[in-house]
Amino acid sequence: MTEEQSATFDYDDDSVAVIIGSGAGGGTLAHELTSKGIKVVVLEAGHHLTSDDYVNNEWEAFNQMAWLDPRTTSGSWRLARDFPNLPAWIVKAVGGTTTHWSGATPRFKAHEFKARSTYGRIEGANLADWPISLEDLAPYYDKAEKKIGSTHRHGRPPLPANNNYKVLAAGAEKLGYRHYATGPYGTNAEPYDERPASIQDGFNFQGDKNKSKWSTLVSEIPKALRTGKLDLRPNSQAVQITHTPEGLVDSVLYVDADGELQRQRARVVAVAGNSIETPRLMMLSGSPLFPDGLANSSGQLGRNYMRHTTGSVFAKFDQPVNMYRGETMAGVVSDESRHDRDRGFAGGYYLQTIALGPAFLASFVDPGAWGPEFAALLDDYANTAGLWIVGEDMPQESNRVTLNTSAQDHLGIPVPNVHFGDHPNDAAMRDHAYQQGSLLYEAVGAASSHHTPPYPSTHNLGTARMSERPEDGVVNAFGQTHDVKNLFVSDGSQFTTGGAANPTLTIVALAIRQAEYIAGQMAASEL
Ligand SMILES: Cc1cc2nc3c(=O)[nH]c(=O)nc-3n(C[C@H](O)[C@H](O)[C@H](O)COP(=O)(O)OP(=O)(O)OC[C@H]3O[C@@H](n4cnc5c(N)ncnc54)[C@H](O)[C@@H]3O)c2cc1C
Repeated sequence: MTEEQSATFDYDDDSVAVIIGSGAGGGTLAHELTSKGIKVVVLEAGHHLTSDDYVNNEWEAFNQMAWLDPRTTSGSWRLARDFPNLPAWIVKAVGGTTTHWSGATPRFKAHEFKARSTYGRIEGANLADWPISLEDLAPYYDKAEKKIGSTHRHGRPPLPANNNYKVLAAGAEKLGYRHYATGPYGTNAEPYDERPASIQDGFNFQGDKNKSKWSTLVSEIPKALRTGKLDLRPNSQAVQITHTPEGLVDSVLYVDADGELQRQRARVVAVAGNSIETPRLMMLSGSPLFPDGLANSSGQLGRNYMRHTTGSVFAKFDQPVNMYRGETMAGVVSDESRHDRDRGFAGGYYLQTIALGPAFLASFVDPGAWGPEFAALLDDYANTAGLWIVGEDMPQESNRVTLNTSAQDHLGIPVPNVHFGDHPNDAAMRDHAYQQGSLLYEAVGAASSHHTPPYPSTHNLGTARMSERPEDGVVNAFGQTHDVKNLFVSDGSQFTTGGAANPTLTIVALAIRQAEYIAGQMAASEL
């Protein structure tokens, strides 16, 4: 038996915690619970790719990793027209989207946990304060940063500046910005935690064959396996969570690698399928006791879907930039992440370096565009620098994930529909960020700049949100559902509001905190 072999627990073993999904939330929770001696079964819908399997080719890697089961979209967002079956860019594999992520790891700011109190009432926005504060989460942020090995934190050195960053930093300086750096970032600049230093090969969206980027695939899952307490089941898609007549969850039904329906009994169930699949599964688990979906007495399940206000600016220079070299997003300007109403909107945003290869640039730079202007954008690839906008978007009740009963996936199950439209605050913030991005590049001699619309959503948040009062959300401050005490939500679905920060560090911090709570409740026989 190798030290990383999966344990095998019985289907009828009702002492196990079942975690659905092995990404940022699920993979971290699995490691934390198993290291506390708790038996865990992880059901992961995707296959178990390893770093050796990844292909250094954008579309090939995407097709190998992404969740490509059918989904539908509606609403006024441009994605409903450009990519109607790809609302989100999410991975279906062991390690979840942490295998595809870039690595930016900023923390939320204190006021972002208290958006309703800070921003006041905003027409059309379903704002609420988180039931936790930055102070509550700070010790877990420390732990998450140490786990990930975030650069610039806890003594971890920064990554070197690549060309794309040098252009960003020079422009930021000219604009008078003061807060810019190559991190914090979840890829090693020097060996750390059994992972090597980055080789700066520019392929970190494609799975990272080198393992210098933190993911639950290369870090949390192997560590959990080494405890002997993790039964990892890839190719196992959960289709229903069942409950006792008293309303406690007691098992998960899933379709295994052979297409057989299995039932795994459970003492505790944690759903971490990312913010589209999590509410979908909870809706699929509706019953006479939970007619609107499991743990949905508030009616908020699936609602308040957020995806961050995004967009990119690509600028053309007269010298080569070769933006694809080095770490894709190791460059961040933080000055605009403050809350400052004078700019015409609430909340803030980051400007982060982004580099797409020619194939992705052609697909995303202006979907549907054709002709000389579009061709010129691609012709100038080598001389192009790029940045990405990441800003807080407003939670809206009408932005929501629902079951589309007129379309089924390969298992014959209704697909999720993702409905989204910008709030005026989102649009005002994006316009401001586009303008600042163009000014930044023009300040260092850009010949022209191009505003690229949002890509399929990489940051999916808010569909089972945390709330103080059960009537305002789905889970409490520990991600425990208000309605079912042994059912937890462990991914970005918990977010009450989105903040401006890229979400993964916060998801990991919440999972560490949740594990402590679950272990404590189990020890006290509360679960
Ligand atoms: C290109 C890209 C770049 C990114 N860069 C950054 C970044 O720089 N910084 C940052 O903070 N974030 C980044 N992100 C976002 C980040 O990857 C996600 O926020 C994070 O992984 C979400 O964690 P999660 O636990 O919610 O879900 P995921 O990590 O997506 O994991 C969910 C898992 O659940 C599985 N699953 C779903 N439904 C079921 C089911 N019914 N049964 C069994 N398994 C199921 C899925 O297959 C998947 O493996 C990026 C994402 C992408 C795509």
